[in-house]
Amino acid sequence: MQKILIANRGEIALRIVRACHELGIKTLAVYSEADVESLHVQLADEAICIGPARGDESYLKADRIISAAEIADVDAIHPGYGFLAENADFAEQCASSNIKFIGPSASVIRQMGDKAIAKTTVEKAGVPTVPGSKGPVSTEAEALKTAKKVGYPVIIKAVAGGGGRGMRIAHNDVSFAKEFHIARHEAEKAFGNGAVYVEHYVQNPRHIEFQILADSHGKILHLGERDCSIQRRHQKLIEEAPSPFVNPDLRKKMGRAAIKAAEAAGYENAGTVEFLVNEKGDFFFIEMNTRIQVEHPVTEEVTDIDLIKRQIEVASGEHLQLEQKNIRFSRHAIECRINAEDPSRNFAPSPGTIDLYYAPGGHGVRVDSHVYGGYTIPPYYDSMIGKLIAYGSDRRIALDRMNRALNEYIIRGVKTTIPFHRAILRDPSFREGKITTSYVQEFMSRSSSDLF
Ligand code: ADP
Repeated sequence: MQKILIANRGEIALRIVRACHELGIKTLAVYSEADVESLHVQLADEAICIGPARGDESYLKADRIISAAEIADVDAIHPGYGFLAENADFAEQCASSNIKFIGPSASVIRQMGDKAIAKTTVEKAGVPTVPGSKGPVSTEAEALKTAKKVGYPVIIKAVAGGGGRGMRIAHNDVSFAKEFHIARHEAEKAFGNGAVYVEHYVQNPRHIEFQILADSHGKILHLGERDCSIQRRHQKLIEEAPSPFVNPDLRKKMGRAAIKAAEAAGYENAGTVEFLVNEKGDFFFIEMNTRIQVEHPVTEEVTDIDLIKRQIEVASGEHLQLEQKNIRFSRHAIECRINAEDPSRNFAPSPGTIDLYYAPGGHGVRVDSHVYGGYTIPPYYDSMIGKLIAYGSDRRIALDRMNRALNEYIIRGVKTTIPFHRAILRDPSFREGKITTSYVQEFMSRSSSDLF
């Protein structure tokens, strides 16, 4: 490949520019009017403005992105995450314009993008899933029957859901009827698709996901797990690898199941198979994400494998040179998502100008961010301004390093989630690895907001 268009913004666009430059590949940034000053635009070899600030008028405009790709004569498009990354129509458009979409095929995106179909697909391959409805449920009576069968509490989820949205929990028949209608309405509004399915609500689980890499010649590997249990409102805040809960035996079992799921989907490129794991170590597939994830750096730091480069190689038709038995998990890595939000005001977004910026460094610290002193965070996009990753030979060292790096990080002019991360890093339960998806809620209810 000679030139790649990056159909994204922010830290992930910069991450892709960096990988391309190391591979000797030229980059084309596309950007909205609000992102002229963004670092990915400044560091890419070429840049084309594709529209006004709002995402739906720029980064989501497939035809403008394809036109930019044709004008600049690129070989491929890297979609990053979010925006068009899991849009099957866009992947199809790329294919019909003879531009390689760096990701799986449109049909795989479509199949795994429908969470109910994804569940059925992997179930057939023998991968355990959360007990629930067979596919979407269309009437309240049918949904209620499923809820009773799988047992309360249950969760009602949008088949087109993502980003932690479109989920409602019900504890009995009465609340079920109400939540079912709310879920359908919310799903229709958020995703333009009101279809929902029902599954058992696993109590206090861990969210453990496996990184998959697959080439176009049938080789599928897993790069171990990431523990993403530290979530607020079903959105990840802190991720780490390996999971403090997973022993080599469980890793082997879950890794095999993840590969089976990818095989069943006919998967190619990088992807993530997500599971919920209960206290006993039983695991259940919840969904597969057909793109690079925000939290991919923890896997990179643990395995020393550059996932973006591997994505580009696989998209070029190359064979994966790695072997499963040679993939080692020799370090511990942790990532904190740094958002421009005010944790003491219920995480309200805090866009604005950063007047002083100093990023931490030193041994075992990585910062993936597109911001700098004087940069203005626009209000139009998500509030993530960077990812702080710390790693070391074991969990304790990685956590001590993260603590040190969080204390060094200076971002003045806007509120950030740094104080919140500091408070969690000091919490004994977190340090002992006692984490489930309810951790953040419990932590907040027992902590004073003065802490953050
Ligand atoms: P999204 O695609 O919106 O990220 P997921 O299906 O990946 O949705 O679920 C996001 C989070 O929601 C999970 O990590 C978990 O915390 C919670 N969740 C989803 N399904 C269940 C379930 N059946 N039981 C308990 N928690 C769940």
